[in-house]
Amino acid sequence: MSNSRELRQETVGRVVLLTILTLFIFAAFGLAQGPEPVISTVTVPIEKQVRQTFEFKDDRVYFSNAFPGGRLNAIEKDEAGRYVVTITPENAPINMSPWYAFKVWSRRKKEIQVRLVYPEYARHRYDPKLSTDGKTWTPLDPQKIVHEGKDPQDEESLPRSAVISLTVSRRPVWVSAQELQPSSEVFAWMDAIAKKAGAPIEEIGKSREGRPLRMLRLGNTSSKRMMLVISRQHPPEVTGYFAIQAFIEKLIDGSEASSAFRRDWGIYVVSLMNPDGVDEGHWRHNQGGIDLNRDWQDFNQPETQAVRNFLSRRIAETGGRFYFGIDFHSTWNDIYYPMNRIYEGNSPRLVERWLGNIQAAIEGYEPRIQATERLFPTRVSRNYFFDCCGMEAIVYEIGDNTPRDFIRKKGEVAAVELMKLLSKPRP
Ligand SMILES: [Zn+2]
Repeated sequence: MSNSRELRQETVGRVVLLTILTLFIFAAFGLAQGPEPVISTVTVPIEKQVRQTFEFKDDRVYFSNAFPGGRLNAIEKDEAGRYVVTITPENAPINMSPWYAFKVWSRRKKEIQVRLVYPEYARHRYDPKLSTDGKTWTPLDPQKIVHEGKDPQDEESLPRSAVISLTVSRRPVWVSAQELQPSSEVFAWMDAIAKKAGAPIEEIGKSREGRPLRMLRLGNTSSKRMMLVISRQHPPEVTGYFAIQAFIEKLIDGSEASSAFRRDWGIYVVSLMNPDGVDEGHWRHNQGGIDLNRDWQDFNQPETQAVRNFLSRRIAETGGRFYFGIDFHSTWNDIYYPMNRIYEGNSPRLVERWLGNIQAAIEGYEPRIQATERLFPTRVSRNYFFDCCGMEAIVYEIGDNTPRDFIRKKGEVAAVELMKLLSKPRP
C-alpha cells in the first residue's frame, strides 16, 4: 500500500517537473500559448448545394443560386413577409468567411426584405455587393442593411444575421458577399494578360473536380532567376485577388522598367489556386473539404501538389532559383505576414527592404507587419516556399473592406518597388 502511494507521489512529482520544464522550453521559444493543433488535410466529405431557382409563385419573386460562385442553401418566408436565406458552408469546422451569392428578380418592381442567416457557430461578415450585369458591382447602401444580434458589450463583434432591403424587378440583381469573380472571369483575365505580354499559359494540374490549374509564365522563362505568385486558395478572398491583378498588370505595363525586369526574370503566376471552391461558392475549402493553406506539409490535395511538383520540375529544368514567393489573401484588415528575419533564403532582407520601400512610396502609409517565427510544420504556402526553395516569402493580406482604389494603388507600388529591388544594376 505505502509503496504504491510513494510510487504514485513520485510519478506525480515527475509529471509536475516535466510540465514545468516543458512550459519553460515553450516560453523560451516564444511558444507559451502552445503550438497550433495540426489538423489532418486528408479529404473529407463536403455538402454540395442543389443548384436551382427558388420560386415564390404567389409573390412572383424568384431566387437562384444556379451560377458559378453562387451560394444560397435554403430559403423560406417568415411571418413578417421577409425572405429568410440560409447560408451554410461546404463542411465544418471552418473559418468565419461565410460566402453567399444569389440572383433575385420579380415580375413586378417592388421592395423586398431578405434576411441572411447562418449556422449557430457563424456570423454575418460581408455586407452585400450588388450587380445587374455580373461585372459592375456596388455596395448596398448601408441604410438598407440592418445588423441583428451583435454582442451589446462588444462594439467590434459581428452580427448574427442581417436584414437587407432590395429593389427587385424583372431584371435579375446579383447579391454577393464580395464582387463575384468565378473561374471564367479569372481565366479571361489571365488570357488578356497572356495576350498583352505575349506569354504562354501552362496547365500545371487539375483541381479535385477536374478544373484546370492554370499558370501564367511571364517574362524570361529560361531565366535562372525566378519568382512565384499565387492567390485565391480561399474562395471569398476577392480583395486579395484584386491586389494580385494590380500587381501583375504593373509587371507587364510596357514601361521600360517592366520590360527590363521581364528580360531578366521568370515570373510564374497561379492566380486561382482553388477553382472548385470559387465556382462552388465555398466559404474556405477545396472540393476535398480542406483548407488548402494548411496542406503545404502533407500535400494531400491536388491543388497544392501541382505547385509543389511545378517548383521542383522548374528548378531542375532551369538549374535556377526562386528568389521571391508571394501569396495573396484577404482578411479583416490589410497586413503583411513575412517570415522572421532569422530565416535567410536566396536573397536575405529582400522582403524587409521591399516593405520599407512600399511604405516610403505611399505618403502617410503605415503598413501592419507581423513576421512569423515558426517555420515547421510548413503547412502554409509561405513556409513551404521558404523551406523548399529558399524563397523570400510573404503572405500579402488585404482587408475585406479596403477601398478598391487603394488596393490597386498599393498593388502597383508593390510591383514597382519589387522590380527596382530585383533588377540588375545596368551600366
Ligand atoms: Zn486566405
